[in-house]
Amino acid sequence: MARRHHKVLAPKGTVPRPPPEGPAPTLLVLHAAELVTLAGDERPRRGKEMRELRVLEDGALYAVEGVIRDVGESRALAGRYENASEVIDAAGKTVIPGFVDAHTHLVFAGSREHELEWKAEGMSYQEIAARGGGIGLTVQETRKESDDGLYTSARARLDTMLAHGTTTVEAKTGYGLSVPDELRLLSVLERLQEAHPATVVPTFLGAHAIPHEYEGRGDEYADLLVREALPSVAAKTSARFCDVFVEDGYFTGDQARRLLSEAEHLGLSGKVHADEFSDGGGAALAAEVGAVSADHLVHASPEGIRKMTEHGTIAVLLPAASLASRIPFAKARHFVEMGVPVALGTDFSPNCWTESMALVASLAAHQLGLTPAEALTAATINAAYAVGLGREVGSLEVGKRADLLVLDVPDHRHLAYRIGGRVVETVVKDGRVVLHRSP
Ligand SMILES: [Zn+2]
Repeated sequence: MARRHHKVLAPKGTVPRPPPEGPAPTLLVLHAAELVTLAGDERPRRGKEMRELRVLEDGALYAVEGVIRDVGESRALAGRYENASEVIDAAGKTVIPGFVDAHTHLVFAGSREHELEWKAEGMSYQEIAARGGGIGLTVQETRKESDDGLYTSARARLDTMLAHGTTTVEAKTGYGLSVPDELRLLSVLERLQEAHPATVVPTFLGAHAIPHEYEGRGDEYADLLVREALPSVAAKTSARFCDVFVEDGYFTGDQARRLLSEAEHLGLSGKVHADEFSDGGGAALAAEVGAVSADHLVHASPEGIRKMTEHGTIAVLLPAASLASRIPFAKARHFVEMGVPVALGTDFSPNCWTESMALVASLAAHQLGLTPAEALTAATINAAYAVGLGREVGSLEVGKRADLLVLDVPDHRHLAYRIGGRVVETVVKDGRVVLHRSP
């Protein structure tokens, strides 16, 4: 287990490393109109804390070899670190932590743009699946695709995510749905962990849907996952989480309990696709089994939300999925008011193709009822906790990774206020500028 955790906590990037004898790369960011630190205790933010951004005006930050060493006012830091090898002048701009996308389905073959025509006819997510679309179609295409093909397309998506400011990405399997195919998807995610500057956190989602060859035999498929898939996933891969889609026609509460308790036993933390299309008791189940997060939660019951509060389960809300599936938006205010930490994700998938956490933050403010400050907290520090990396990323504090964004806006509220624009000007991952867009 230690090996696996170590790998996720200290991912290797392809960002070129300096020769060992060369000077340590140093980065100084100066004069941010707002430097949003999100500093605070080592736990997810909840209730009123979600609005406490800890903003520094004329803010500055200094990093050495990818780690933040100092944060403060520019007049103090400018003289102290004048020999920094890279200096970013953020005058008039807003600096925030890199986005953490807490929920994606990154690796798959093909696309499903034809389903928009079916959606226009009024077909639901379930009707599209019954007509041969949805997850089933993507599974067929993914099983046929080569490892290199899967790697190349996932890598291109990850590039786009990074260019939109996402520096840490949770990525699920779930389009293999057989033991060898699911392990193949995990090996693609491991290649991305090694080769891509973004931090990738793999999640095993063998319980995404019941594959067609097991139709009507959900219990047998769940058995296969428990007996054959989970032991290999835990022993041979860098997966950190196990996720289950709990919904009518997918997996039952009992199946999910079995899977998640076995996963926990093997060292994988739980996540649940919960209450997306109906109240299937997913929120309560996630809380009861000690899952790190329950995701979607469009139809979560008050009782489910109460249990999440009790157990400290993080709510990962996915407004772009509501948009794509034409279902209601989750009631984020209930979660905030009940003291459940709220995080955000894109739900990037063939059903919901967006790489942009800025768009998601904007949807969260316009449709979920979060304030701009809450949306920013949900897209950074709380999302970091939802993927198990809250102590390493998600806020701009001494000792954390220097993952940050310069936004071409005068204050943090513009992030959620602007819908679908390009506010991300510079992306810094592990202390290195990986993207700079000149105005
Ligand atoms: Zn999902």
